[in-house]
Amino acid sequence: MSTRLGPEHHLFTQTIAARRLVSEAEATQLLTKCLTLTEKQNSTNLKEHTQRINAHLSQLFLEIRWGTCEVDGTKYLAFVNNKEDEHSKLCSNHPAVAFGFFKKILDEVIMSDDGQINNTDCLTLSNNLPDQKKLTYTAARELLTQWSADKWLIDNKTNNSYQLGPRAIIELGQYISTAYGSHIANCMLCQQLCISGQRCDECNSKFHGHCLQRLINRTKEGHDNRCPKCSTEWN
Ligand SMILES: [Zn+2]
Ligand SMILES: [Zn+2]
Repeated sequence: MSTRLGPEHHLFTQTIAARRLVSEAEATQLLTKCLTLTEKQNSTNLKEHTQRINAHLSQLFLEIRWGTCEVDGTKYLAFVNNKEDEHSKLCSNHPAVAFGFFKKILDEVIMSDDGQINNTDCLTLSNNLPDQKKLTYTAARELLTQWSADKWLIDNKTNNSYQLGPRAIIELGQYISTAYGSHIANCMLCQQLCISGQRCDECNSKFHGHCLQRLINRTKEGHDNRCPKCSTEWN
């Protein structure tokens, strides 16, 4: 940690902190821009750059954390405050009742077989919140729109459902693993938290769709509807 940070690190950190979540592609562009603007020629890659920044940020309980969107496999970097609890992470700009609503959604998504909740069912949850609280449909809809824009949720238009977005996976992953322990599985391929994925009926292993797709692309045999773990054929 003896290496000091340069202006290219400061500029990069400020931008990520302001945006809160950026894709790997956006962060790569940002790094190039930071190196150009600060006239740094050093060849650094995104991993090294964030590691070096994190060595300093950790003293402040801050972190630029990598994670992956469960739905499409896109990698993201999130600016995370490790001192903040789940409530303030999610709802700093919303009424306290909003956290109760998100928690209900989380319960339903995690207890579901496919890691999703139907849009209508989701709205209905706002009627029955802890401590007999309620949100109007308009307020609930506004929250869902905001959470989708901020990538806490993914509004899956093809099947009218919500899934957990990359920000929820990155920022709440630890909380989810602790709070829902026995209901949680990791993907057998990437070993990361897997809420939305395919489960093998035979061996009960779970896999992200994008991890399975990458495996299929790599094997090039044009098959393979088999469980990568136990080789049972899926139909
Ligand atoms: Zn995976
Ligand atoms: Zn299996």
